[in-house]
Amino acid sequence: MEKIKNIALVAHDNRKKDLIEWIEWNYSSLIEHNLICTGTTGVMVEQALKRKLVNEVYNLNIRKLKSGPLGGDQQLGAMIAEGKVDVIIFLWDPMQPQPHDVDVKALLRIAVLYNIPTACNRATADFIVSSSLIGQEYTPVTKDYEAYIKRDVNLG
Ligand code: PGA
Repeated sequence: MEKIKNIALVAHDNRKKDLIEWIEWNYSSLIEHNLICTGTTGVMVEQALKRKLVNEVYNLNIRKLKSGPLGGDQQLGAMIAEGKVDVIIFLWDPMQPQPHDVDVKALLRIAVLYNIPTACNRATADFIVSSSLIGQEYTPVTKDYEAYIKRDVNLG
């Protein structure tokens, strides 16, 4: 990971207020990085950052994917598999089933597989954003899947 991180920000509808509050607290660190958001979250994050930066000249770098239920979580998962995401702040809703629950599960699985620092609540997000590693180069240890890739598959 480079010093400037690719940080993914996603919040389910009941958690968007939490995420926006968290962004308002942490905007000065977040704008140092590249941000990637699912669609609706991205619009809200952009508005929140613009409100905070109203008197400053700043080049915001926010990539907006599709809305989560329309494939945004899967796009993010694909970006993780391609090594394009360093950190995820994913405030998913523990109280309400989502139409794209399977995508949510897939995203969390791929984040674990690739050893991506993942915050699913504000306290963990606070720990991540306040870690000195957020502004340093970092090489996460990843499991070697070579043996898995080269395994013999019995075709019968
Ligand atoms: P949204 O998607 O940002 O488009 O609301 C979030 C999600 O449900 O994953």
